[in-house]
Amino acid sequence: MTGQQRRLSVHRTVPTGVEHLPMRPLWLCRRCGQPWPCGAAKVALVAEYRDAPVSLFLYLAGCLHDAIDDLHRLNPSVTGSAADMFDRFLGWPARHTHAYRVSTTTAVRSQEASS
Ligand SMILES: [Zn+2]
Repeated sequence: MTGQQRRLSVHRTVPTGVEHLPMRPLWLCRRCGQPWPCGAAKVALVAEYRDAPVSLFLYLAGCLHDAIDDLHRLNPSVTGSAADMFDRFLGWPARHTHAYRVSTTTAVRSQEASS
């Protein structure tokens, strides 16, 4: 019996455990309908990429690229400013993951080995 189930990792870009997934091309949460990433998605993503914050940025950068592409194709006026889109996808993890900051010594001081 060759019952070895080989799973093709087609959905590799979608992290496991994240149920609040983006509904393309609208980029709204499939579950709660908010602009993705919604609050629940952010929590799940931070947990998923806890040990690899840079990978989280890379993943979100890819999402940002796709979202701009999708939204612009749907309605060029919806895309709004690039700064807003950037903050929506990449601004929040920069505020959550201190590993990406380099020279904010005062901000890091408050969280000394709390885990
Ligand atoms: Zn959601």
